[in-house]
Amino acid sequence: MGNSSGAEVHFTQKASFAPLPDFAIGPDIPSSGYLTTDLGGGLYGVTSGLVNTMFLVTKRGVVVLDAPRDLGDRFLAAIGEVTTQPVTHLVYSHAHADHTGSADLFPGSPTVVAHELTGNLLKMANDPHRPLPTETFSGRHHTLNVGGERLELEYPGDFHQPGNLFVHAPDHRVLAVIDSFTVKSAPFFRLLFTAHVPTYVASLNWILDYPFDTIVTGHMSQFGKPEDVEITKQYVADLHSSGQKALKMVDYNDAVRHVPAENRQARLKVYVDTVVDTAADIMPKSWADRLGGFDIFLKDNVNVVVWSLLND
Ligand SMILES: [Zn+2]
Repeated sequence: MGNSSGAEVHFTQKASFAPLPDFAIGPDIPSSGYLTTDLGGGLYGVTSGLVNTMFLVTKRGVVVLDAPRDLGDRFLAAIGEVTTQPVTHLVYSHAHADHTGSADLFPGSPTVVAHELTGNLLKMANDPHRPLPTETFSGRHHTLNVGGERLELEYPGDFHQPGNLFVHAPDHRVLAVIDSFTVKSAPFFRLLFTAHVPTYVASLNWILDYPFDTIVTGHMSQFGKPEDVEITKQYVADLHSSGQKALKMVDYNDAVRHVPAENRQARLKVYVDTVVDTAADIMPKSWADRLGGFDIFLKDNVNVVVWSLLND
């Protein structure tokens, strides 16, 4: 993947990637299709291997974060293995269907808590698998008290999607930052489809302001620690400096010299692709030893950072 450089412009990409490094593979997923991890004090993490989340068992019912589509009714099976308590509360981290698309499977009409911006997006989605929240808040903070347990919900800004929340279990020292970054792996496509790169970058610092030992990030199968946030911060800082260098290295007129002047869209595309290819080439290759999927998502992530450098 590192052979694109100079004036040569590739419009197709071979789907051949480096093997996933051992540190990024994560635990084996049992044949049940899910793995439950005891995070202490009645809090449990659950993963399908591709998507993960958590639930909190209290004296008066279970509080669930999200209802990932990829887990489906296996999430109910996971909860049923550790408690006979019903699910009384469901918190939406944000509106996306990959995290909320099986919310209709919970029996007994639990209270559904979300930021009002998430509620607005779900009204537009009009999806029977994603019931509308029954309790919304409009500010920055909301405390959810259930059965003597406490979750602190914070809407810190649009690092991923309007209404996205940090969910903190302060007594458990666990923080869920769904679709913020990926533990042991590079962020998926375009920094997880961030709505705004500067907010994305800032959010990694906001995460580190919380007291936590374990972090739940929404995708892949591993739960993280504060140092995993630091690694992603360094990765994004390197994306920025590579993008800045590439913008200085690539001469616009040279990059577009083979594109007819009247085809302005093609010129823009060829120029930005050349900047992205150049930035990807100068990213330190040692990242392949620190983040799984480094090569898979490098150009997507460089692209969103270059556009942010041009426009933000
Ligand atoms: Zn999402």
